[in-house]
Amino acid sequence: MTAMTHLPALFLDRDGVINERTPGDYVRTPEMFVPSEGMEEAMRLLSGYFGRIVVVTNQAGIGKGLMTEEDLRAVHQKMFDLVQEAGGRVDRVYHCPHTKDAGCRCRKPATGMAWQALVDFPDIDFANTWLVGDSASDIRLGQALGMHTALITGKTEEAEELASMKIDFQFDSLLHFARFIVEC
Ligand SMILES: [Mg+2]
Ligand SMILES: [Zn+2]
Repeated sequence: MTAMTHLPALFLDRDGVINERTPGDYVRTPEMFVPSEGMEEAMRLLSGYFGRIVVVTNQAGIGKGLMTEEDLRAVHQKMFDLVQEAGGRVDRVYHCPHTKDAGCRCRKPATGMAWQALVDFPDIDFANTWLVGDSASDIRLGQALGMHTALITGKTEEAEELASMKIDFQFDSLLHFARFIVEC
């Protein structure tokens, strides 16, 4: 009998995980994309462990007309460049451009972006996947699909909601998550 093998997969939120949050604004330009401390080292470590690494990010600034798809592409090019220079990789970025009231299926906590990733990378197994995010909506997406969940702490606006949730692990940075993963 041949066992079907899946490499572990990683779903990463972007703002507050890979780069610093910009409360009250969106990361509209490459200059506004500030990597979180240790992000490059984290991505290098994670790339050696995870078979797939995808980013899933809500970017309602597009739906609100505050930025364009082209602006987002430029921001993500900077992210790809930084990760690649560090010896890491991101296999693909999925973004939801819609506003909260648009009723789409992709805005987290809805699971549309994860299902699209599964279509694009059929070797992903949600049960062997980690979801890392700093918001309740990230954790809810992961929980809905049976992923392991890790919260990056720091989003004080949601402290109460997050404290009421059953989250598998909490770390104060992506780098600390990466060190935990590669050492276990
Ligand atoms: Mg976030
Ligand atoms: Zn959407």
